[in-house]
Amino acid sequence: MKEYDIVVIGGGPAGLAAAYSAKENGIDNILIIERDNILGGILNQCIHNGFGLHVFKEELTGPEYAERYANLVEEKNIEYILNSMVLSVDENKVVTVMNEEDGIFEIQAKAVILAMGCRERSRGAINIPGYRPSGVFSAGMVQRLMNMEGYIPGKEVVIFGSGDIGLIMARRMALEGAKVKAVVERKPYSSGLQRNIVQCLDDYDIPLLYQHTVSKVVGKDRMEGVVLSKVDDKKQAIPGTEEFVSCDTLLLSVGLIPENEISRDLGVKMNRKTSGPIVGENLMTNVEGVFACGNVLHVHDLVDHVTMESNIAGKKAAEYIKMNKVDTSGKKIQLIPDKGVSYLVPDHINLSTLSDDVTVRFRVTDVYEGAYVDVNFDDELAIHRKKPFLAPGEMQEIKLKKDYILEHQNTDNITFKVEAK
Ligand SMILES: Cc1cc2nc3c(=O)[nH]c(=O)nc-3n(C[C@H](O)[C@H](O)[C@H](O)COP(=O)(O)OP(=O)(O)OC[C@H]3O[C@@H](n4cnc5c(N)ncnc54)[C@H](O)[C@@H]3O)c2cc1C
Repeated sequence: MKEYDIVVIGGGPAGLAAAYSAKENGIDNILIIERDNILGGILNQCIHNGFGLHVFKEELTGPEYAERYANLVEEKNIEYILNSMVLSVDENKVVTVMNEEDGIFEIQAKAVILAMGCRERSRGAINIPGYRPSGVFSAGMVQRLMNMEGYIPGKEVVIFGSGDIGLIMARRMALEGAKVKAVVERKPYSSGLQRNIVQCLDDYDIPLLYQHTVSKVVGKDRMEGVVLSKVDDKKQAIPGTEEFVSCDTLLLSVGLIPENEISRDLGVKMNRKTSGPIVGENLMTNVEGVFACGNVLHVHDLVDHVTMESNIAGKKAAEYIKMNKVDTSGKKIQLIPDKGVSYLVPDHINLSTLSDDVTVRFRVTDVYEGAYVDVNFDDELAIHRKKPFLAPGEMQEIKLKKDYILEHQNTDNITFKVEAK
């Protein structure tokens, strides 16, 4: 059985950055395993720009960003295999992989970095009534079909869900000559980035219908249209508000699910809010030597944040290999999401593994203007940060200084909450 110090599962931006960082931190024996036929993950289908503003200080397209990291991996001679799917990892860190050439085989790892990204929620997950005609797609699937394989799935489109993929695909389809009739959102606000609403919908006169739902798919073999209804405060369709909109294509942009089947089977504990692993500030899961980063940990809006997070996972995995263990005997300070905050990553800080400032990433539960985010170390207010605009679709981050944490070692809980105006 081949042996590696670090096996990285997933060759998307998270896996590439984590592998590169582990190499930079002194580990040579690294393998990246990617199930697709190319490195770069979801970035390869994101041909729009807007990537890399933080990491490279320039605006790149998704494939350009992916290429930069793939080149770094090549330059550093980091080993990778494509078209190879990891099936499982066991408690001894034996990684079972399958590909066309070698069939099923095993690899022994000393540390594993989980970087499998996420997948889209499908129609089955949201139960829209009606037949199952062709023409219903997830937005990311159509993005791949159009941008990588050269197919346009339809000419008259309704998009359900105002997440970033839906917004970006509205613009993409409009640019290719399709008529995008509406983007439909059940909530009173978008779950995508504000900049995408402006650049992808407003600039193309595409209407965004808040507090509406797709209450029926019409058509038997091919879609003929959808029935849209207004929704009440509980997001239920209001009878009598139905309106038929003809279209041949419905794109669903109704959320992403971190791909954690492998993690769960391995015994990694999950955060119910993020559907990703529970990790400490070193991004290690409850399974010693197993780290997680990127969309498999929690869904990110910006790849730059994925890269920065994954740098830490790679560095910490490298430290683990060098020391051959992790001392987790230190005091554990719990991070707690309070009023207006839906989750926090990491979940806790362990004083014996703390080596740097800690970037805490989180999402809020509602839209707030002119609010403050308060961070309390037990009862002591540590940070009172003004945030002109907060929305669930925009991930937030606040850095906790290592020195401050060490000066407040007796703290049991660090609480994050939104103080609305
Ligand atoms: C439509 C869309 C638009 C976006 N637009 C922007 C933007 O404008 N600007 C921006 O900064 N960010 C944007 N993002 C966000 C950014 O692209 C993602 O956050 C980032 O790609 C996540 O990186 P990742 O490596 O965690 O996941 P992914 O990119 O999904 O990579 C995960 C990789 O793991 C592989 N994998 C999964 N399971 C296995 C397995 N069992 N075995 C082997 N390999 C496996 C997958 O094939 C994949 O290659 C966008 C994302 C999407 C979806």
